[in-house]
Amino acid sequence: MKCKKCHSYALNIAPKSGFCDVCYYKSHLFNLLAILHGDGGHYIDKHGVDKAVKDGKKIAANKVAR
Ligand SMILES: [Zn+2]
Repeated sequence: MKCKKCHSYALNIAPKSGFCDVCYYKSHLFNLLAILHGDGGHYIDKHGVDKAVKDGKKIAANKVAR
């Protein structure tokens, strides 16, 4: 089947979204990062995934510590 997001053919397509495994997990993890940064994904766009994840860990740690 063909992924609705990246249009590549994949063996596993998530039933509800129609996304391949990569796009499925990516969309969820990007959403989680956007929630952590509280900006709808602008931080990821501006600084890249590596920095967004690194800084997201600090944000999550601070939320747990409170
Ligand atoms: Zn895909």
